[in-house]
Amino acid sequence: MKENFPETCQIPKLFVFDLDDTVWGPELDFSMKKPVGYLKDIQEILIELHKGESFKNSKLAVASSSGVPKRGQKKLKEMNLSDYLVLEDVFSFIEIYRKDKDRHFHALNEKTGIDFCDMIFYDNQMNNHEIVKKLGVTCVFTPDGLEKKLFQKSLENFPSKDGKIIV
Ligand SMILES: [Mg+2]
Repeated sequence: MKENFPETCQIPKLFVFDLDDTVWGPELDFSMKKPVGYLKDIQEILIELHKGESFKNSKLAVASSSGVPKRGQKKLKEMNLSDYLVLEDVFSFIEIYRKDKDRHFHALNEKTGIDFCDMIFYDNQMNNHEIVKKLGVTCVFTPDGLEKKLFQKSLENFPSKDGKIIV
């Protein structure tokens, strides 16, 4: 099926990312003073998800409860992933507003038609996972960003059993 994965391996149809302290850090605020940068291996991972043959049937989405959504949207347009890509280019669906993640995921389910059980979610806050896992989404705890090793583990453990959060 997929060249890099065994025949039985399922690939999530929707990869959903929190932004603050998962994709970038530090958290955006009103001050506009702090420089914001990518965390750990996220840049490489997002490029692989966007371009990789294994993920050609998958889409990417954002679920962010930012208190400063306009700043978040601006950052998505400003931050380069590569010479030819900005962050916004890789995300097909962007939910960024001050609501809890339950609301974001229901919106994503409606817009994409993808079942919760075919979604995987990366977030640095355990309280968000406690909400989202109840929907049947596979949850991955990224307390200070996503490393390649944990990304790989999340694929190997997808879909997670009995709402177990991948750490
Ligand atoms: Mg966060």
